[in-house]
Amino acid sequence: MRLALALFLTLTLHAQAPLKSLNPKVEKIVSAVSTERIAATLRRLEGFGTRNIFSSQEHPTRGVGAAYRWIAEEMKSYSPRLQVSLDPHELPQSGRVFRPVKIVNVVAVLPGTTQKDRHVILSGHYDSLHIVRKKVGELEQMDQEATVAADAPGVSDDGSGTAAVMELARVMSQFEFEKTIVFVAFAGEEYGLLGANEYAKRAREQKMIIDAVLNNDIIGNDMAGNGRSANSAVRVFSEDPIDSPSRTLARYVKEIGERYVPSMTVNTVFRADRFGRGGDHTPFDRAGYAAVRFTTPSEFYANQHTGSDTFANASPAYAARVTQVNGAVAATLAWAPPAPDVLTKTRSVTSGDEVDGPNLSRGKSGYDAFLKWKEVGDVSDLAGFSIVRRDSTAPYWEKEQFVGIGKEFRLVDVSVDDIVLGVKAIDREGNESPVSVYRIVPRKLP
Ligand SMILES: [Zn+2]
Repeated sequence: MRLALALFLTLTLHAQAPLKSLNPKVEKIVSAVSTERIAATLRRLEGFGTRNIFSSQEHPTRGVGAAYRWIAEEMKSYSPRLQVSLDPHELPQSGRVFRPVKIVNVVAVLPGTTQKDRHVILSGHYDSLHIVRKKVGELEQMDQEATVAADAPGVSDDGSGTAAVMELARVMSQFEFEKTIVFVAFAGEEYGLLGANEYAKRAREQKMIIDAVLNNDIIGNDMAGNGRSANSAVRVFSEDPIDSPSRTLARYVKEIGERYVPSMTVNTVFRADRFGRGGDHTPFDRAGYAAVRFTTPSEFYANQHTGSDTFANASPAYAARVTQVNGAVAATLAWAPPAPDVLTKTRSVTSGDEVDGPNLSRGKSGYDAFLKWKEVGDVSDLAGFSIVRRDSTAPYWEKEQFVGIGKEFRLVDVSVDDIVLGVKAIDREGNESPVSVYRIVPRKLP
């Protein structure tokens, strides 16, 4: 009898602790992503001629206005539960904005259930750019009006990111998530991350809780200009330092993305973005949020910001695979419990100041790693917590140990000085939170 009970408990515990198991609902989302629908969206976006932010807002079929109205109407058609709105911003002349302009982000909100104050953002930018140059004396510079007038198909940059966001809005709006998911097509990326800047600034002012920003920019082609191709991989850029919120999210993207889309490799690049170039994830990172950028490893530089960034030069099948990685990560995150709180108030012995520090100590023995954490938010479907660790120089978590429901764990004779430690929460469906890292808080020097 006791054996039977023990066996029953063991089986039940395992059923409740599905470490690295697949959630069938997430698998459904991944397999519902349609290459054909992404191809149709790319063709449609190309069909507006240009989506330059200075192009016509009124013309019914050509220009940026026709484009954002279509994106909004299309997303409205996916589900009555998607709250679609236009998010306009009047910008004065300044820097690259050579005359005053109204930019319009398109925002579709899928409200969450038990954790609706927490947000997961999926984004791309729908504006496009075809730079036309003119000679000014000996030098070449951008001809502003000719640039605005030119055809700017922008299929890979960034019709592809927009198509990914729209396809996931279609697929994911058929499900209910615990967290709120926001699908955003940003405007004005090409003239200085304008739409994302405005959004991130407001989010910070309103103290919006954003668990992740998954930004997609140039995911629509898989052949580079030099013939190199890496069509089973996607690059994910994240800003320093080594355990920043954005870097922690990048590790999560690799872990979850490769779990659900095993044909794809997530190449994490440990820097903010490509050399000397930027994207819409950066304003969010600067505002303190976890934000990463997805980009093809096979950029075709000669097509970028020209008239040849066309559908004919794009790969909808590749864009669909990157979309699947996004869908798996966003869905898991939106169903997952919040990451545990690993901070505690400590009082400096020397100054008496109260500071937030990692809830990690050497324990009673003085030689153990003694981790403590607090549950955050609704944890009714919690299976338990998992402790992760890695060498201080290792890029990814190396060891993982499921420790069940609890608020502390001791790793006997493990030095807190030499390794990095973290903890994550996992629910009964196997949805896991990002890792909360026990980060050293730099001491103020006198
Ligand atoms: Zn772009």
